[in-house]
Amino acid sequence: MNVMELFETMEYGPAPEAATTVQAWLKEHERFGLFIENQWVEPASGQYMESMNPANGKALVQVASASSADVDAAVAAARKAFKTWSKTPDHVRARYMYALARQIQKHARFLSVLESLDNGKSIRETRDIDIPLVARHFYYHAGWAQLMGRELPGYEPVGVVGQIIPWNFPLLMLAWKIAPAIAMGNTVVLKPARYTPLTALKFAEIVQEAGLPEGVINIVTGEASQVGDALVKHPDVNKIAFTGSTEVGRSIRRSTAGSGKKLSLELGGKSPFIVFDDADLDSVVEGVVDAIWFNQGQVCCAGSRLLVQENVAERLLNKLRARMEKLRVGDPLDKGIDIGAIVSPSQLQEIERLVAQGEAEGAEKWQPSWACPSEGSFFPPTLFTNVSPASSIAQVEIFGPVLVAMTFRTPTEAVQLANNTRYGLAASIWSDNINLALDIAPKIQAGSVWINCTNVFDASSGFGGYRESGYGREGGKEGLYEYVHPGWEASQVSEKPQRSRPQSLAEDEEVANTSEEAELALPAIDRTPKLFIGGKQVRPDSGYSLSVKGVDGKPLGEVGEGNRKDIRNAVEAAHAASKWASATPHNRAQILYYIAENLAVREEEFARRIMQQMGRGRKEALQEVHATLSRLFSYAAWTDKFEGVIHRPPMRGVTLAMHEPIGVMGVVAPDEYPLLGFISLVAPAIAMGNTVVAIPSPMAPLSATDCYQIFETSDLPVGVVNIVTGEREGLAKVLAEHEDVDALWYFGSAGGAKMVEEGSASNMKRTWVNYGRQRDWLDPIQGEGEEFLRASVQVKNIWVPYGE
Ligand code: NDP
Repeated sequence: MNVMELFETMEYGPAPEAATTVQAWLKEHERFGLFIENQWVEPASGQYMESMNPANGKALVQVASASSADVDAAVAAARKAFKTWSKTPDHVRARYMYALARQIQKHARFLSVLESLDNGKSIRETRDIDIPLVARHFYYHAGWAQLMGRELPGYEPVGVVGQIIPWNFPLLMLAWKIAPAIAMGNTVVLKPARYTPLTALKFAEIVQEAGLPEGVINIVTGEASQVGDALVKHPDVNKIAFTGSTEVGRSIRRSTAGSGKKLSLELGGKSPFIVFDDADLDSVVEGVVDAIWFNQGQVCCAGSRLLVQENVAERLLNKLRARMEKLRVGDPLDKGIDIGAIVSPSQLQEIERLVAQGEAEGAEKWQPSWACPSEGSFFPPTLFTNVSPASSIAQVEIFGPVLVAMTFRTPTEAVQLANNTRYGLAASIWSDNINLALDIAPKIQAGSVWINCTNVFDASSGFGGYRESGYGREGGKEGLYEYVHPGWEASQVSEKPQRSRPQSLAEDEEVANTSEEAELALPAIDRTPKLFIGGKQVRPDSGYSLSVKGVDGKPLGEVGEGNRKDIRNAVEAAHAASKWASATPHNRAQILYYIAENLAVREEEFARRIMQQMGRGRKEALQEVHATLSRLFSYAAWTDKFEGVIHRPPMRGVTLAMHEPIGVMGVVAPDEYPLLGFISLVAPAIAMGNTVVAIPSPMAPLSATDCYQIFETSDLPVGVVNIVTGEREGLAKVLAEHEDVDALWYFGSAGGAKMVEEGSASNMKRTWVNYGRQRDWLDPIQGEGEEFLRASVQVKNIWVPYGE
């Protein structure tokens, strides 16, 4: 072809990245063992599997296919290493992590090529995005290792962590998992995805080069049914960190329920990409390219739903089609390629199946005129219009280069469409009106919101989901708490809460003889508390009451026996009170102070209740009431102080890490301190803007039901706190399985904790349970503070770039 002809066609020539060094490395290894205790070991079964190049379907190399015996060996190595690594000084851990970061930078080109070969993603992306972010993650967390003692006082590493990662960002997901874990003094066993184990194995060599102590990082390749399952169920693993599909996340939630394992889940998404009519449409087009054709659309936070304001829709779609016509699909190692290969033939088939389903459902498919390479797993960029919001292609995560477009007329409609999904991982908002964009951002249910940009990531800005996109954050300071626990937890006891022995009653004459009616020998006026739902005292649906007995076995009163219907009504009332989330923190603080004020004038009465129900002396009971008042003051104080932060990621702009309420929270209160325990949970939840359905201690529910009048007279908006008395475990189960409850805290028995964690999997609600272990609610470290506040919020990172 001569120059004239080139000018005529403007065809790209090939610009291949050389793979010779990587090919030589693969050849040299022939097959890889498992990386345990810094050694390469043969899998117990002697089985190996092939890792394929998705761009040509050819085998690259063989890797070990481990079984549960290998997982046992890796966990044992990690446990042994934990003894010293958890005690290794912060600065020493920071040095090791710095060494890892430096080695990754030195091997950056090698890792980029290897990742492209194994995964099929374009070299442009692995070179410019994946690998630099991997290095950044280790640098950033080297810093947290250095600062752990000062910045997380009182916290300890959780132990041995099992980490399971997907194939879409193989080395980046490894970095997101391993860096925070080892920075905080944990040791790890990591399972790479079956399709993409190779960069993890190269990383194992880097671990050796950096001289990390044996057993701190162990890498076990193999099938999900062998390695994944064994890790999840292993009794000596203290935490599971998982990224992958929501379905597998759900099954991991169920299998770890009640085990006491900490769990963080980063799951699927169907993220909206919202375009307002004042947006710069040419920038929007490039944004869409990055949103859905980045990594072939195999991105959990891909902007796969284009929501565009109706009056500019046609103009934008025409521009988009023109741009799609120019995209290049092909050899991932070609530097001029936009879209590489789909990771495997089975993923390709799944994309084809969903695309066919979209057409069958009546949506209009558009693809560019050119054809994809015939060898390997490729799929062209695809646009669907005429899409119904309820159709499967608008709801299901396709995980391929497929965009579905829908229109809206008003900002309110845009928000409704955006939130019309079970997921909540990310969103992108395009408008030249920053006021509009910043107004919309908090209304979208998603962990990351990008304004006039998309798919940008940084170690400083935590990443993770709302709703069925999972929980926990990776990156940021919030991500560290996924790998630590309060040191005092080690001394917790698992005893059943007891009431005081009856003789303490005798010590305190007042308990039996305080009532004036008793002195006058008049019968008491019946006062049976009902349930407290939507600001009203309502009869339980069952029409039955439960007797509450004092410590001497004599009846103290009755409470309503709530059931499933009452919980449903309470959840509905809590949803109806959602405006509480947008009340100013100053306003919420005033109400918490007011609750304290109204409780203080009745402190003797509340103390007496505690004495009657728990058999405690007057001094102890008053101490509980005073601690409750102090707690209310604490959360009134925190309301306008537990705020987000502003990050400066390496770009021209900021990320605003906002603390947002989770939504409707269930709170199951402990028995130990019927008033203090109840308020210690309800107060932080409402302080942060959540609305609550609370189940009081069944042993001593009257301390909570006595609060009805306090709440009624303290300007607390109706429905912010709803209280349903009754059989605790049964009611907790209804809350756990309720699709419209966003989080559930349960402080009861070990069996109850398991039931709650299992039940929560239906909508992946966040849970916080005590596994039957008691905490000292009087102690301000155990009974109040940031641990409670963190559990009451979810962090949303709003990315705001600067400049024209
Ligand atoms: P999976 O969720 O099945 O796999 C993710 C990781 O979990 C892999 O390491 C996998 O191992 C492992 N795994 C699978 N099942 C279990 C189990 N029961 N117990 C423990 N570990 C398990 O994703 P797929 O690769 O099958 O992809 C299917 C769909 O999931 C995609 O089409 C996409 O929609 C979604 N997905 C979402 C991702 C995200 O980032 N949110 C990432 C990847 C996929 P192995 O590789 O050996 O099967």
